[in-house]
Amino acid sequence: MLFRYCPHCGTVLDKREEGGKLRMRCGECGFIQYLNPAPAAGILVRDDKGRVLLVRRKFEPFAGLWTMPAGFIEYGEEVSETAVRELEEETGLIIEIETIHTVESCRDDPRGDTVLVMYEGHVRGGKLEAGDDAGEVGFFPLDGLPEIAFACQRRVMERLIRNLS
Ligand SMILES: [Zn+2]
Repeated sequence: MLFRYCPHCGTVLDKREEGGKLRMRCGECGFIQYLNPAPAAGILVRDDKGRVLLVRRKFEPFAGLWTMPAGFIEYGEEVSETAVRELEEETGLIIEIETIHTVESCRDDPRGDTVLVMYEGHVRGGKLEAGDDAGEVGFFPLDGLPEIAFACQRRVMERLIRNLS
């Protein structure tokens, strides 16, 4: 989102081209708004049959479509803590992280670009139950996936499917 006013001095910002990119700049104090993707974290969880844990999005964007559990990293939070916290909030399951699965740039979220750190982990406890942000939760086989939200999450699924064949 582009600022209209300088967050430091309140002056109305000008649009300036800089390094081939359009940026908002303050003519008064020199502030320049640089847009950066927001970091998010999630976990790929598969059961002993190889099925993938997915949650159905209750809210926009892409309400009704499915994703691996993930969420935005809060200030002061470790990346892995975010992933474990989001998964527990959305699915009721407690996960032990094993490794980083992939890091993806997500460019189709209407709220802004994100960088998604996807871990891989296994269930260590809890009870599968849809949380506040999730309409439904479940494990799905790779040959029977529902419609997945976000191009970056679809890429992760497509690679899993390719690695099977
Ligand atoms: Zn300013």
